[in-house]
Amino acid sequence: MKIISHKREMQQMAKRLLSNGKTIGFVPTMGYLHEGHLTLAREAKRHNDIVVMSIFVNPLQFGPGEDYEAYPRDQKRDEKLAEAAGVDVLFIPGVSDMYDAEMSTKITVVKRNNALCGNDRPGHFDGVATVLAKLFHIVMPDKAYFGLKDAQQFAIVSGMVADYDFPVQLVPVETVRESCGLAISSRNVYLSDRENKQAPSIYKSLLLAKHKIENGATNIEEIKTMVTDYLKSHTDALIDYVDILSYPELQPLEHIQGRVIIAIAVKFSKARLIDNIILDV
Ligand code: AMP
Repeated sequence: MKIISHKREMQQMAKRLLSNGKTIGFVPTMGYLHEGHLTLAREAKRHNDIVVMSIFVNPLQFGPGEDYEAYPRDQKRDEKLAEAAGVDVLFIPGVSDMYDAEMSTKITVVKRNNALCGNDRPGHFDGVATVLAKLFHIVMPDKAYFGLKDAQQFAIVSGMVADYDFPVQLVPVETVRESCGLAISSRNVYLSDRENKQAPSIYKSLLLAKHKIENGATNIEEIKTMVTDYLKSHTDALIDYVDILSYPELQPLEHIQGRVIIAIAVKFSKARLIDNIILDV
């Protein structure tokens, strides 16, 4: 596995690979790798000649008071895990390399942003879109792999790729979970023992909603209340949101029909966790 830490070197390598007829599968991450990231890498390996994974904790997508400084980092461990998952090129740029000059243009997300995490984290998705626009130009992937744990991110990035005709195919990958159902996340390390025991209730509440809907429930408020009550009685977490929207448009619905996302964000003492399920009703 080759490790590259400068964007121009990465771009030169991508050009060489493409001119040699190789296909590039890309897995953008913020590192502290876990089974979720590694599943994306293995999926990329199955369908591309070369897998490029980036590790970049992007300051643009963190708001004031969020965990940019504290975000878990362990490059040596990540290198071993990435290599074992079949990553060919690990791209780990520094912040000053990625943002080496003051920007003269701005990417602002105007759709699918005024819901869910877009409300709680102003500017977050502008930062995500900006870094991915740059990474797509640097890595020049044929396909890029994203986890549906961040379903809003996938919807927003799909919008940007369509808007600006990026020649990349986005591939969604199902959320990878612990055996208890908890969605795997780099931020799970922030959970106390007590919170760790409570956190599987997030997915359990989603399954409860799924079950209700599959048995014919269509009233959104009723299901949101049920999920909220379940979370309140099974965890100490503060609830940022419980919502049911159309997917991928993320529009409010009169009642449950079509493709819908049931999405949750909760705050434990040090970790804000998100999870969702997407259903075709
Ligand atoms: P992050 O490092 O958290 O920015 O995540 C990088 C990529 O991995 C994103 O596309 C995430 O959606 C994806 N990802 C993170 N956690 C999981 C998971 N548990 N299952 C599947 N994909 C995930």
